[in-house]
Amino acid sequence: MHSRIQLLSLDFDGTLVSRVGEPALDERCMELIRALQEGGAVWAINTGRSVDLLESGLADFSFPIRPDFILTTEREVFRPGQNGDKWEAFGDWNERCARDHAELFSSAKSVLAEVIDFITQETKARLLYHSEGLEGLVAENDEEMNRITEFIERARAGHPKLDYQRNTVYLRFCHADYHKGAALAELARLIEVPRNNIFAAGDHHNDISMLDGKVAAMPSCPANAIQEVKAAVRAAGGYVAAKEHGAGVREALLHFANGDQ
Ligand SMILES: [Mg+2]
Repeated sequence: MHSRIQLLSLDFDGTLVSRVGEPALDERCMELIRALQEGGAVWAINTGRSVDLLESGLADFSFPIRPDFILTTEREVFRPGQNGDKWEAFGDWNERCARDHAELFSSAKSVLAEVIDFITQETKARLLYHSEGLEGLVAENDEEMNRITEFIERARAGHPKLDYQRNTVYLRFCHADYHKGAALAELARLIEVPRNNIFAAGDHHNDISMLDGKVAAMPSCPANAIQEVKAAVRAAGGYVAAKEHGAGVREALLHFANGDQ
């Protein structure tokens, strides 16, 4: 199937995969993505999951097709491995990303310490650590997450490069220059696909950077997306689907593939 769409950037949880209802995976959406791939389009999953968690997700939901690229933890860019590994870093982006984050977290220590104090004393949220230090947190609910992001917004005023990605009750700290939109822009640069030929779909806060029209000229969201995402997609002249999850992605793909935008 040939269409204007040359690169698909699809969020995983809540977009391709339903976490609430059955079936988790929309078969007809998978068929359409396969047809687009056969027509020469490239499919990337753009997710907050790590490489390993994404691989377990692909296995858990028995995905019938494989993505051509994966963009993970809301910032890293991987292509299929050439030496037996499933995936390998594509270009030097991941290295630059790691370096910028190491510098950021060392220069933002005092701001992060303030945030940790607030989380520990004023909330029931759980802090998440990885080998390099604080990674993010899990809030008890949306209301608590709203209070936390309000606090972080004030605390980061003096350190604007310290940012965060929010996805439901999960939050990950990051460098302001790295997000799903930036990772997608880097992949598009590497494989030479212009903005006009990029389709993106997502459902939550952490997807807005790829749905605001800057990187992808065909942004969309399924009906289950949060209001902020729908507003961003509409403002960018994108497509808000009437159907949820994968069925909504399929609806949006057909909308743009048929050229009736
Ligand atoms: Mg999602």
